Amino acid sequence: TASGMQIAFDNSYARLPGAFHARVAPTPVATPRLVKLNLGLARELGLDPDWLASPEGVEMLAGKRVPEGAEPIAAAYAGHQFGVFVPQLGDGRAILLGEVVDRAGRRRDIQLKGSGPTPFSRRGDGRAALGPVLREYIVSEAMAALGIPTTRALAAATTGEWVRRETALPGAVLTRVAASHIRVGTFQFFAARGDTDSLRRLADHVIERHYPEAAAAERPVLALFEAVMARQAALVVRWMLVGFIHGVMNTDNMSIAGETIDYGPCAFMDAYDPATVFSSIDERGRYAYANQPGIAQWNLARLAECLLPLIDENQDTAVALAEAALGRFGEAFNPAYLAGLRAKLGLTTEVEGDLALARDLFERMTAGKADFTLTFRRLCDAAAGPDGDGPVRVLFADPAAYDAWAQRWRARLAAEGGDAAARRSAMRAVNPAFIPRNHRVEAVIEAAVERADFGPFEELVQVLSAPCEDQPAFAAYAEPPAPDERVYRTFC
Ligand code: AMP
Ligand code: MG
Ligand code: MG
Repeated sequence: TASGMQIAFDNSYARLPGAFHARVAPTPVATPRLVKLNLGLARELGLDPDWLASPEGVEMLAGKRVPEGAEPIAAAYAGHQFGVFVPQLGDGRAILLGEVVDRAGRRRDIQLKGSGPTPFSRRGDGRAALGPVLREYIVSEAMAALGIPTTRALAAATTGEWVRRETALPGAVLTRVAASHIRVGTFQFFAARGDTDSLRRLADHVIERHYPEAAAAERPVLALFEAVMARQAALVVRWMLVGFIHGVMNTDNMSIAGETIDYGPCAFMDAYDPATVFSSIDERGRYAYANQPGIAQWNLARLAECLLPLIDENQDTAVALAEAALGRFGEAFNPAYLAGLRAKLGLTTEVEGDLALARDLFERMTAGKADFTLTFRRLCDAAAGPDGDGPVRVLFADPAAYDAWAQRWRARLAAEGGDAAARRSAMRAVNPAFIPRNHRVEAVIEAAVERADFGPFEELVQVLSAPCEDQPAFAAYAEPPAPDERVYRTFC
C-alpha cells in the first residue's frame, strides 16, 4: 500500500552512539527520473522491483522521499588521503538510508550517493554528476559479474537538477548496496581522538557483523585484524588478476568487509604495464597498478595502529602481535596471487618456476604493449597447441617475443598433461573476454550526458554481465581502443 512499509529496514549502525554519525536526510530534488534499476539485485535484497520503479520508489532512489523505517545518517570517518592524514572526512555526499537483511540472511547497507550536503560536506555540494554515477554503476556491476567482492549498484536516477563542476552537468543519485560502509578510516576517526570506548564499540560491531568467528578467538581484536587482512589480500589478488586499478586507495576508501568500494577514477588497463595510472589526481603514481598490494599492506598497518589499545593492555605486547600479523601479509597475498596466475595460464599442478614463467610473460607483454585481457583470453585457445598462437602473437609489438615464451609455456603444459578441452574451459572461466574498457565507458557516458541516450549504457551493462561468454554479436566490446580512442586519464 502507499502508506505501508515497503522496505524492512533494521538499522544497526544508526543505533550506535551519536559520535558515529550525523542524522541527516537527503535533500529533495526537482524531478527524479529512473535511469536504471538492477532487477536481480532488488530481488536478492527482497525488495519489490515494481515498487522501486513506481513514482514513490523513484522518489526514494533520487533522495526526494525518505521511506518508512529508514533512519538516514552520514557516517563519520577519517583517512589518509595520498598518505596525508585527515582527521575528519565522513560521508560528504552519501547518506545511508538503512540496512536490510537480504534473502540469503546477509545484512546490507542501502546508501544514496549524491543525495545532498551533510555535516561532512566541507566545501562540496553533496551532489554527483550523471557521468560518475553511470561509471560506478557499470564498473561495480562488472566487478560483481567477475565474482570480485564489491559494493553493488541498485539504481541510478537523474535529479532534474544541474551540478556545477567545470561546467554544468546533469545531476544524478546512485543507490549503492554494501556489506557495510565501515572503512579503515572509521577506526582512524576514533583512534585519532583517543576515543577508545567508541573504538571498542566499533570493533564489537564489526566482529558481530562481518567476522563473527573472531569473537571466539583468544584475542578477538587481533583475530579481527587478521581476518580483515586476509580478505583485503584476497581482494587485491583479484584486482591484479583482471588488471583493475582502483585509483584512490586512501584508507577511507578501504572497506573493512573486504569489498571494492568507492569507484572514482578507477579503470582497467588495456595494454599491460605495471606502472599504469589513470587517476588524474594520482600525480605521483602512488596508486599505480603494481603498487596496489603494497598499498593495501600500508593501509592495514594504519588499521593495526588503531587497534593497538584493543589488542592488549600492554602496548609493547600489542605492537609485537600486530607487527607479526602484518608481517604475514605476504603469506596471505603471494600464494593466492600465484594460484590465480596458474589458473590464468591453464596450469593445474604446482611447479617451481611457474611464477618466473608468468613474470616472463608479463615482461614481454610490457615491452610489446600487449593487451592484458585479450592476451589471456586468447591464450585459452592457444593452450591446445601452436595452431592457436596466431591471434595471441599479433598482440605483441614483436610477435617473436611471444613465440619464445610460448615454447616454454607449452613445454610446461605438455609435462602436466591433462585434457585439452577441460583446460580450455577452465581457462575461459578465469580469463574474461569483456571488461569495462575506458573508451567504452566514456562513450556511454557521453551519449547519456550529451544526448540523453541511455541505449549504449544499457547495452554495455548487459554485455558486461556475462564477461566470460563469447557473445559474438558484441565482439567489438572485447577490442582494445584504437589509438585515437585511448583514454589516459580518468576523473572522479
Ligand atoms: P573520495 O575521494 O570519493 O573518497 O571522497 C573524499 C571525501 O570527499 C569524502 O569525505 C567525500 O564525502 C567528500 N566528497 C567528495 N565529493 C564531494 C562532494 N561533491 N560534496 C561533498 N563532499 C564530497
Ligand atoms: Mg571515499
Ligand atoms: Mg568517491
